[in-house]
Amino acid sequence: MTQLPVLNLSSEATGTTPAGRRASLPPRHLADLDLAGRRAAVAELGEPAFRAQQVSAHYFGRLVREPAAMTDLPARTREAITGTLLPRLLEPVSELATDNGTTRKTLWRLHDGSLVESVLMGYPDRVTVCVSSQAGCGMACPFCATGQAGLTRNLSTAEIVDQVVWFAGLAARGALPGCPDRLSRVVFMGMGEPLANYNRVIAAVRRLTEPAPEGLGLSQRHITVSTVGLVPGIRRLTQEGLSVTLALSLHAPDDDLRDTLVPVNQRWKVAEVLDAAFEYAARTGRRVSIEYAMIRDVNDHPWRADLLGRLLSGRLAHVNLIPLNPTPGSKWDASPKPVEREFVRRLRAAGVPTTVRDTRGREIDGACGQLAASGGGKVGERENGLLARRANEETQ
Ligand code: SAH
Repeated sequence: MTQLPVLNLSSEATGTTPAGRRASLPPRHLADLDLAGRRAAVAELGEPAFRAQQVSAHYFGRLVREPAAMTDLPARTREAITGTLLPRLLEPVSELATDNGTTRKTLWRLHDGSLVESVLMGYPDRVTVCVSSQAGCGMACPFCATGQAGLTRNLSTAEIVDQVVWFAGLAARGALPGCPDRLSRVVFMGMGEPLANYNRVIAAVRRLTEPAPEGLGLSQRHITVSTVGLVPGIRRLTQEGLSVTLALSLHAPDDDLRDTLVPVNQRWKVAEVLDAAFEYAARTGRRVSIEYAMIRDVNDHPWRADLLGRLLSGRLAHVNLIPLNPTPGSKWDASPKPVEREFVRRLRAAGVPTTVRDTRGREIDGACGQLAASGGGKVGERENGLLARRANEETQ
């Protein structure tokens, strides 16, 4: 019999914190509130409500996060207004860069000392940020570094949004050579399981997609929410009326193997999670992205490609293969290229569109499954006055 990884679904799947640990959410920030809420917060200070609009225009419209730069606010009240709407949420601890500065990973310390990471990836035609939705992750996938550490806590809406605004500001200042200066895409593929922090993630999506000054004005279609397969969360998302892209981390087409690779499969089986994903696709008209990490001799067999092909053929879905990225202490390797090519060939022969993901950020432990907030990385740079360094030196 196979030993299955242990998963405490009662807390993690519902997005509550594990028993015995108290979540320490950060102070309220304007990105937690809609414009009406921001106006009310400013009015409570006895200031005119339009100040909320001004601060919002700085933050979402001009990507300015520093109160000192908001010189159109009267000096007398600037501190009070920004203190109530713009508490500092993310403290950069280190920044690592590679690919000529077009891939950057930032490690942040949150107000309670929790650590999370986000990754920026610039391409000639687009700039994408990969954000964290939780500090750590409770899903326990054995091939993922984040999953090994367990869940610390959910991030607040503003902690999620602020990762994006920070990187959008960096891109706007021309920090990514040869890339557009407008950040266009956000993927919820950093640390955490977004659907286990459902309400805050959805609020973050709304903030990111509402036009400025209410929000950042990104297109919903350019936002991808990736899930391990929490079926109730997928069903809820289907009812939201959003047209974000859904990615499902499948990794195996059969329950025997998926029970071990993605432990939530013990609760929601392959057939059920695919049904929920197909329903999402049908409702939104958006093609679902099936994520599949290629692990040598574990899930890369030709018969598994054929089975996956049968499950997906004729569906509004495509497969995104991810060559397994190395994680500390892992006994697994990426599949050899010829095996990967054969897997792709069989899926395409079944009529399933298939791509292989470019593995950005491996050298800085910023690739899929490598985010563990423990630092590490080989390429350091001095950037924005920050000394990029191994984060574990910083946290010891
Ligand atoms: N919890 C969500 C969001 C994380 S996204 C989810 O599981 O979808 C990160 C993606 O990278 C997921 O598809 C995850 O399964 C995959 N991944 C995790 N570890 C990996 C590794 N070592 N190599 C390649 N992909 C990995």
